[in-house]
Amino acid sequence: MTPNIQIIYEKEDVIDLNRTLNIVHFNDVYNIEQSDQEPVGGAARFLTALENIILKGPTLVLFSGDALSPSSISMLVEGRQMIEILNKFHIDCACLGNHDFDFGLDVLMTHIENSNFPWLISNAFDAYTKKPLANVKDKHIIEKDGLKVGLIGLNCDIVIALTHMRWVNDTILAENVPEIDLFLGGHDHDYVVKQINEKWIIKSGTDFRELSVIELDLSEKFRGVNKIEKYIIDSKIEENLEIKSIIDSYLENVNKELDQTLGQMNVELEGRFSYVRTQETNLGNFITDIMLEAVNAECAFLNSGALRSDLVHPIGEFKMRDLKKILPYLDENVVISVTGNQLLQALENGVSKYPKHEGRFLQVSGIRFAFDPLKPPGNRIDPRLVKVQDEILDLEKKYNLATIFYLKQGKEGFDCLIDCPVLIDEENIPVLCTLVENHFKTVNCLKKNPALKKFRSSIVPLVVVNRLMQKINQEHSTALAPTQKLSFSGDTMIVTKVLSRLERQISRETEDYKKKISEFEKESIKLAPKVEGRIIRIQSTEHFEQLLDEFGAIY
Ligand SMILES: [Zn+2]
Repeated sequence: MTPNIQIIYEKEDVIDLNRTLNIVHFNDVYNIEQSDQEPVGGAARFLTALENIILKGPTLVLFSGDALSPSSISMLVEGRQMIEILNKFHIDCACLGNHDFDFGLDVLMTHIENSNFPWLISNAFDAYTKKPLANVKDKHIIEKDGLKVGLIGLNCDIVIALTHMRWVNDTILAENVPEIDLFLGGHDHDYVVKQINEKWIIKSGTDFRELSVIELDLSEKFRGVNKIEKYIIDSKIEENLEIKSIIDSYLENVNKELDQTLGQMNVELEGRFSYVRTQETNLGNFITDIMLEAVNAECAFLNSGALRSDLVHPIGEFKMRDLKKILPYLDENVVISVTGNQLLQALENGVSKYPKHEGRFLQVSGIRFAFDPLKPPGNRIDPRLVKVQDEILDLEKKYNLATIFYLKQGKEGFDCLIDCPVLIDEENIPVLCTLVENHFKTVNCLKKNPALKKFRSSIVPLVVVNRLMQKINQEHSTALAPTQKLSFSGDTMIVTKVLSRLERQISRETEDYKKKISEFEKESIKLAPKVEGRIIRIQSTEHFEQLLDEFGAIY
C-alpha cells in the first residue's frame, strides 16, 4: 500500500542520491486515537509511516511541541499517555510548546524525566531560580551519519531551529539569523512550507495527520535541501499494533480515571439548569473564581450554558467524573480588554432572556450587579448598580475580562465582545476543565505540602494581590526611608522600576499582607464556595433605592 505523499519541493541538481539524511518533522499532536474523518491520523498509523521512512536510511526525528494537552485523555492522566506514545517514536529531539505547561511545572518536569529524548527550550525560565527550566536544554547537538546537527547551538555542519511560535515570529527569526539553515515550527496547525532568504520554514500540520520528510543534501557536508515531502496519515496506512494496544488501554481506563478524587467539597454545588441559568450559584462562583485566579484580569464571566451537569453535586468527594459532567468540553479561555460600556452590554445580554432558562445567563467573578426583570431586555441594568472589584463601573474605563473563546466569538448574543482586543489568547491559557483540575491540585498542595506551592500558580488572583500591595504601600509609604528613594536617583526609568520592585518586596513582607493572603488561601482550601450577592434581582422600587444607597451610587 503506497502512502499518500505530496512532493512540496524537489531540487533539480542533486549530486549524489546516496549522500542524504532524512528529517522527519511533526508538531502539535493532541489526540492519540484516530479521528472520524480522513485523514484519520492517530498515533498508531503515524508510527507505521514513520518507521517505513526510517527503514530507508539515516533519519532524524524532530518534534516541534504541544503534545501534553488539551485532549479528553490528557485531562484524565495529565498528558502521561503522550509520553508513553512519543517514547516509541524514535525522537531525536523535541521542543516544548505552550500547552506542554498546562498541568503545571511539577507535572511537566516528571514528563521530561520520563521521556527517552531531550526537550529543548531557550526562552522559558524558572521564575524562582531564573535558570532554564530543570532538565530542559537550550541547545542540543546530534551526530548522525558523521554529520553534526546543531539544534539552536552553533558551530555545527547544519543548524536547525526547532520552534513553537506563530508564523510572524518564525519569519522574523529567519530574516535576522542567517546562521540557521532550517526552521521546523509548530503552534500553527495548518501544513505550510515557506522559503525566506533561501531558507525553508516548515510547519507540519497537526494531530498525527501529517508529517514532513525533508531530505538533506550531504554531498559536500550540508548542501541544502533536496526534497520536501508531505505525508498524509490516512486510513490506508496500517496501524502499529503496539501503539494501538496502548491507545486501547487508555480508552478502556477512562472509567477508572474518572473515579479519581480531586478534592473534598464542604458544600453542595448547585448545578441545576433552573438555578445556574437564572441566578448566581455557588458552582458558577467557584468556576468563575478559578478563571480569574488563573490570569491577570479584574473580572471574569462564563455563560451558564457551559455548565452542563444539571445536578446538585453532594458534599464530600468531588471526582473527575463530576468535573467531566460539569465541563465535558474543552472550553478555551481568553483575556480580552473591554470598556465599561461593553461590559454593561454583555451583562445586559446575559439577563435579556430572563426568566427563561437560557444558557446566556452569566455567572460572574470580580463583578457585582443588579438587574430588573420587569424592564425591557437591553435596559435591565442600571450602570450605577454594577461594580467591578468593588468599584462602580466606569463606562469609559478599560477592564481586563477573563471569559471563554466561545463568547468572545459573539456566540449566545455576545456580539459586543467580537471586536474587543485579545490580551491573552486561547493558546496561552489551559482549557477550563484543566484550570479547575489545577485549582484542586493547588488546594491539595497547600493542605499537604506548602513547599510544593512554588510549582503551582497562585490560588490568589493577581488582581487581589496587586490591590492589596497598593493599599499597603499607600499606608506604609512613609515607612520607606527617604535614602532608599534617593539612592536610585539618576534615571527615572530605573527609579520607578526599582522602587516598584522594592515596594512589592516590602509590602510582601508586611504582616498585613501575609495575613490577608493566608486568609484568602484558608478560605479557598475549605472548598466551600457560597452565594454572596454578586447577582441581585431587583424586587421593587424600594429595593432599587436601597441598592443605590448600598452601592454608594451618586444620584
Ligand atoms: Zn501551541
